[in-house]
Amino acid sequence: MNKRKCGFTVIVGAPNSGKSTLTNYITGAKISIVSPKAQTTRSRITGIKISGDSQIIIVDTPGIFSLQDNLKNKLNKSIVQTAKNSIEGSDFIIFLVDASKPIKPNDELVLNYIKNIESKKLLVLNKVDKADKQKLLENTQKLNEECNFEKTFMISALKGGGVADLEKYLEDNLPDSNWIFPEDQITDAPARFLAAEITREKLFMNLNEELPYSLYVETELYEEKKDIKIHQTIYTSTESHKSIIVGKQGSMIKKIGEQSRKDLQNILGKKIHLFLFVKVRENWYDRREPYLVSQIEFKE
Ligand code: GDP
Ligand code: MG
Repeated sequence: MNKRKCGFTVIVGAPNSGKSTLTNYITGAKISIVSPKAQTTRSRITGIKISGDSQIIIVDTPGIFSLQDNLKNKLNKSIVQTAKNSIEGSDFIIFLVDASKPIKPNDELVLNYIKNIESKKLLVLNKVDKADKQKLLENTQKLNEECNFEKTFMISALKGGGVADLEKYLEDNLPDSNWIFPEDQITDAPARFLAAEITREKLFMNLNEELPYSLYVETELYEEKKDIKIHQTIYTSTESHKSIIVGKQGSMIKKIGEQSRKDLQNILGKKIHLFLFVKVRENWYDRREPYLVSQIEFKE
């Protein structure tokens, strides 16, 4: 039997570089699994791709570079920190660039961050289907001068061109290791968790720091037909927290729902109808979380 390989690959890049599109292309529209620590850890395992004898675990760290301007107020520091930890702890970092445009300050921002991280880095120029050949070469050269990449790939995440080469490279170069997620644990059921996780992330982003820790998001309905219908309840422990979450005339909950819906639509690749409810339930944190804990075990 061949040796098994397994490892974490984090996709980073400026907004709109195509991270979600690439994640979807590699893992399929299905979200394979989410850690049961979903609601305590801020990093997201977006999907798992089994390729040959390798298990490629894709981690998404959305938003952490795109909100630099008002990061302090808007994004809980712990989200950023955990996202950064997952970048630092990864085996590979895919630095994704929209190669159809000139290199932008947002690209540089991300590049500067990953530059000194030890994980192996791959330069992936995306949108080659609409990129100018000359520009591609110029960008490849410029970016390789700025950072020590193992290899450069040119792909179209939208059309799939070049993605197989990238996958093959990961398959061959991940460390020898047992698979972290046993085959029988890989299902699409955790899409529910992912959906809860994303709404919770938006709560973190929009509310002040202490509040989100007193929250619990549960996906009560997840119905996939042509579109996906999702009902979620946000549990909180006091009426005053509830009114903060709901906001003036529902403005806060509306904003959170809108952000969450957009993200889910992007990740799941289908139209999302998201309904959020806020309920006060004292001592919600004493409840067991049967679905969350028993169905999937995270093997460390
Ligand atoms: P993210 O913000 O990095 O997650 O970027 P998205 O995956 O949401 O992609 C941003 C936009 O770029 C979307 O409209 C995609 O359809 C488009 N896009 C992504 N990859 C490609 C590609 O390879 N070619 C073209 N032409 N468009 C792409
Ligand atoms: Mg995205």
